[in-house]
Amino acid sequence: MTASLEFRKQLNESPVPAARRAEILADPGFGKYFSDHMVTVTWTPEQGWHDATLKPYGPLTIDPATAVLHYAQEIFEGLKAYRREDGSIWTFRPEANAARFQRSAHRMALPELPAEDFLTALDTLVSVDRDWVPAGGETSLYVRPFMFASEVFLGVRAAREVTFSVIASPAGAYFSKGVKPVSIWLSQEYTRAAVGGTGAAKCGGNYAGSLLAQQEASEHGCDQVVFLDAVEHRWVEELGGMNLYFVYDDGQIVTPELGTILEGITRHAVQVIASDMGHKVEERRISIDEWRDSAHSGRITEVFACGTAAVLTPVGSLRSPEGEVVMGDGGAGPVTMAIREKLLDIQYGRAEDGYGWMHKV
Ligand code: PMP
Repeated sequence: MTASLEFRKQLNESPVPAARRAEILADPGFGKYFSDHMVTVTWTPEQGWHDATLKPYGPLTIDPATAVLHYAQEIFEGLKAYRREDGSIWTFRPEANAARFQRSAHRMALPELPAEDFLTALDTLVSVDRDWVPAGGETSLYVRPFMFASEVFLGVRAAREVTFSVIASPAGAYFSKGVKPVSIWLSQEYTRAAVGGTGAAKCGGNYAGSLLAQQEASEHGCDQVVFLDAVEHRWVEELGGMNLYFVYDDGQIVTPELGTILEGITRHAVQVIASDMGHKVEERRISIDEWRDSAHSGRITEVFACGTAAVLTPVGSLRSPEGEVVMGDGGAGPVTMAIREKLLDIQYGRAEDGYGWMHKV
């Protein structure tokens, strides 16, 4: 049960024709198209992880009584494969995703997939579907590992059959027309996570619970929603799918401390890069009043969000029923853009990766 998995390979005999694939890669958008293959692995208490297979991408057959459809015992990850100018393909810190996936699994009473098997699954899929990694700009192949309760059973308990799967989807540049600051809506009615809850796990339910607040943000003309803590409605947590950073006029950078938020891999990379650029980086609680007052007074000069999808995104303004506060001049700030550039240079192999973050597929 502890030996690493061998993946059986069943290649797709009718892959997407090369001409159509080229069309897709020229304008992939996000999460709309999928590569030719997928990975699935099954777990049961008796057999552990078994039946590791790479096979043609296609629908899963789900019995209506499959546990995940009822009790949402499900987790996922998201990371990217980047194509370098020399054609080689690299993923960014996949072992960090493997570790977070294990933490999420533990919280959701799912079996922990050994990191080695997680990494082999990614490499197996990305190398077979390497032609699906777009080239140029800030494009990538978005890789989505996920795990769910596949047992057909309506009793409320941890599933005794679980499926792990990996799919991949080509992604265009998040900002195809240049980096544009986002506007943020402050959710006052809804919270994302409570102490002791599942906020630090990457489970589907967290996202389902955030959608109404995100809809409210859109109705108010905002791009994203920010959540406050569930007890005092005072401490800034994170956006629906990104962590937050605050840049102060003395060069200090602050990010909300861990606990009820997702421990972003980009968040950690920013911490390391910013420290190496000479910034003092602090993880601490920051209140919504501090955010508003310091943005008003100019103490906070820039705010940015970070995550795998959009790398670093400048926050232009914060809106709530009390009004709007603009960050700096509302544009993309120099500290945000410098860290963003540095991170992208590492990811696309334009700068030396002094941190050992890149993994060649
Ligand atoms: N917070 C949430 C809620 C997220 O969904 C994500 C995206 N995974 C992040 C933060 C950023 O995490 P990462 O940098 O690992 O993508």
